[in-house]
Amino acid sequence: MIKVPLDVPLARPTLGSAGSTGTWRILKPVIHYDKCTRCRLCYFYCVENTIDLEKNLYPRVDYEYCKGCGVCAQVCPTAAIEMVREVK
Ligand code: SF4
Ligand code: SF4
Repeated sequence: MIKVPLDVPLARPTLGSAGSTGTWRILKPVIHYDKCTRCRLCYFYCVENTIDLEKNLYPRVDYEYCKGCGVCAQVCPTAAIEMVREVK
């Protein structure tokens, strides 16, 4: 096992990996539930772990931490996730 010296600064992961998104996001995912099959791929692939599943297994995006990367929209097999421009 490799020992890390205690004085080396290490990033500490937090909810959403990089913390709250702030105001810089340009696009955000909007889920069209009429097309959603509850396959959960977006939930598994979200790079920030910001997609939760409701009790009925429909996904819900936590916009506080979503970075707008669009991975969820890319992996959705039914094109249920649309990346829309943020309204500031
Ligand atoms: S846009 Fe990126 S960060 Fe936001 S929910 Fe989709 S995969 Fe997660
Ligand atoms: S990947 Fe698409 S179809 Fe699957 S749960 Fe997410 S929004 Fe629904």
